[in-house]
Amino acid sequence: MIDAVGLRKVYRLKDREVVAMDGVDLTVSPGEVFGVVGQSGAGKSTLLRCVNLLERPTDGVVRVAGEELTALSGARLRAARRSIGMVHQHFALLSSRTVASNVAFPLEVAGVGRAERGRRVGELLELVGLSDKAKAHPAQLSGGQKQRVGIARALASRPKVLLSDEATSALDPETTASILELLRDLNRELGLTVLLITHEMDVIKRICDSAAIMERGVFRESGRVLDLLGTPGSLLARSLFPLPATDVPDAVAITYTRSYDEPLMSELTRRFDVDVNVLGGAVETVSGSSVGRLNVQVRGANREAALGYLAESGLLVEAAR
Ligand code: ADP
Ligand code: MG
Repeated sequence: MIDAVGLRKVYRLKDREVVAMDGVDLTVSPGEVFGVVGQSGAGKSTLLRCVNLLERPTDGVVRVAGEELTALSGARLRAARRSIGMVHQHFALLSSRTVASNVAFPLEVAGVGRAERGRRVGELLELVGLSDKAKAHPAQLSGGQKQRVGIARALASRPKVLLSDEATSALDPETTASILELLRDLNRELGLTVLLITHEMDVIKRICDSAAIMERGVFRESGRVLDLLGTPGSLLARSLFPLPATDVPDAVAITYTRSYDEPLMSELTRRFDVDVNVLGGAVETVSGSSVGRLNVQVRGANREAALGYLAESGLLVEAAR
């Protein structure tokens, strides 16, 4: 759905150049939620603005919904961009307009007639759970409600792709959870492809099918979340499931990305006669699967055979650090 190749963005300032993006390849499949996570200044917003051509990349090609946006300009680019909706961190609502009229705004710009506009706004407000706030002004809404208006407005032109720039960063944890749930529901019900950027690992854990870790203008890692978690040395695994450092002898870090029918640890002690001591870790649901990462001390004469058995069973076994 989104296919970006070799994206570079250089900002030329008076006295110097800032390389905000330095060769990013991004593939987002239709119907998935893709999260780009990284610290402030990593280049995330630049990437998003280049994907919808709000900003023209210095190098690289961007295709969205089959159209090569980087080859278009003027009216043809504006038309193609209607297949992309955008949600902002600080909502970007018009304070003098009502909720309904904020959502209607992009439809007015697109020349949609009054009656059709009214119908569509009604549908959109229902979709985001704000039917009773149509006549309210943004100042009368909570942060979460404002973001719902932002999402309804972004969906007005029936986009295939929704881009979200830190949509939940200004919200408290509970409201964040409800907005993420809304994005997930929209993704499922409308088949909407979502590309979101965030600095919060928790957002990746909660709703993303795929993710990339961005640092200093490049992707350090990118792929399906569960695949990345099962990859040796994965940065994402370490960030999503930080394990406390350990210097306990014979400790290993074990990662599993699906649930097992057999209680593996007790099987291990039975079959291999080893002592298993769980030192720390966490088990959580990620992308709908039960994922765990544990630091475990395994001791005994058959230690190597026991670890080999875990690896054969599909668990990732690494040296604990
Ligand atoms: P993030 O969204 O990950 O915080 P940004 O994409 O906003 O990162 O910024 C990446 C880098 O590009 C930063 O060093 C930032 O200062 C610089 N940058 C972003 N936008 C501009 C701009 N319009 N002009 C000059 N430098 C910019
Ligand atoms: Mg940003």
